[in-house]
Amino acid sequence: MGDRYPGSRAQHERSRQSLARGVATGIRAGQRPVPISFVGGNGAYLTDIDGHGYVDYALAYGPMLLGHSPEPVLAAVRRQLSEGLAYGASHVLEAEAAEALCRTVPCAELCVFSNSGSEAVHTAIRIARAATGRTRVVKFLGHFHGWLDPLAVGTPGHGETELATKGQDPLASASVSVCRWNDLDALEAVLDDDVAAVIMEPVAVNGGCFAPEPGYLEAVKALTEAAGSLLIFDEVITGFRLALGGAQERYGVLPDLAVLGKALGSGFPISAVCGRGDVLEEVASGRVEHIGTFNLNPLCASAVVASVAELEKLAPRLYPQLDAVGGALAEILVTEAAHAGLPLVVNQLGGAAYAFWSNEPVGSHMDALTADGNAYRRFAEALLDEGVHVIPRGLLYVSAVHGEPELELTRQAVRRACATAAETTGVA
Ligand code: PMP
Repeated sequence: MGDRYPGSRAQHERSRQSLARGVATGIRAGQRPVPISFVGGNGAYLTDIDGHGYVDYALAYGPMLLGHSPEPVLAAVRRQLSEGLAYGASHVLEAEAAEALCRTVPCAELCVFSNSGSEAVHTAIRIARAATGRTRVVKFLGHFHGWLDPLAVGTPGHGETELATKGQDPLASASVSVCRWNDLDALEAVLDDDVAAVIMEPVAVNGGCFAPEPGYLEAVKALTEAAGSLLIFDEVITGFRLALGGAQERYGVLPDLAVLGKALGSGFPISAVCGRGDVLEEVASGRVEHIGTFNLNPLCASAVVASVAELEKLAPRLYPQLDAVGGALAEILVTEAAHAGLPLVVNQLGGAAYAFWSNEPVGSHMDALTADGNAYRRFAEALLDEGVHVIPRGLLYVSAVHGEPELELTRQAVRRACATAAETTGVA
């Protein structure tokens, strides 16, 4: 068979001459057989430089909840483009964007904006430290909160005390305790009167789409309250995806602070911290400095206002639909793999899912460490060859515009990819 990806290979070779590793974010380097170069995205579909079309379940790592190139967002951004990119000064969309968050996110009485999820996480922690007068932070094993030094410890695929990368300052994580999730005893053991904040993904999507045990979030809320620590939900993925108001709405547990990103801007780089008014008072009063050249620039603000308005409009049918389409995608993968004798398991919650190459159910960070990541990456390559684009490490996202036609295409593609995988692994 000839090479299916000559354009992507040439593009990657060219990029490597000037762009370190040939990709703009290291995660993409793991794509087999080569990082694919795309030239267009529309609805549930992507087109690559070699002219191949794909049903897309990567969705830019989550932001494209409305699908690629959503017209209401593009229209708002086009309008703003003709009025200026950035003023370095106040503008009318600032209040509109903040009001949109306060309307939709249950814990949001006040908010601040940044440009990426990583930044906003660290803004939230700074605010929590200021509000409590304490220093330490508790995070959970296998939860991901961005690439910045202090919290890049105990991340998915790593051990409890393991830093994520060479070059990290080990001292930056000295005030961070890593704790097992879904384990109240473990949390109680580390909570003391120097813990400023407990931060978690309320559904541990990055580690394997693990749901909280019934009652766990409520119990964590009670424990943090009793300890005088603040509870931060990192809803960079779950925000707008699991419900309009995120995991906090879906589970009915309000954190003190929440971090939003990804779907908030439908592909524009923007993030936010929102939460209790008395806690955000640290910023409102000027005691906590919150600055940034690009914070809530008019272009990104226009994307937020349009994205949230569209999500609010769609909400009554969107969330049942994401549950159904996400469930159908998981069923397709599991059923087709089982027919081919392949060990694929899928955890799915609403519009997010995680597939593992494993003979056993994967219910925790420790289980995830035993799954075969390389075999799944090879399967992701087989899917790509059949016209389905997924994140090679196992994450899957569906959007508001994924429906029956995409699921049918996916079923056929998954069937063929499973046959290929069974052949190459000698299962059949
Ligand atoms: N928190 C969570 C839960 C995330 O999934 C991510 C990114 N995948 C981040 C924070 C960091 O966001 P960003 O990549 O925008 O810095």
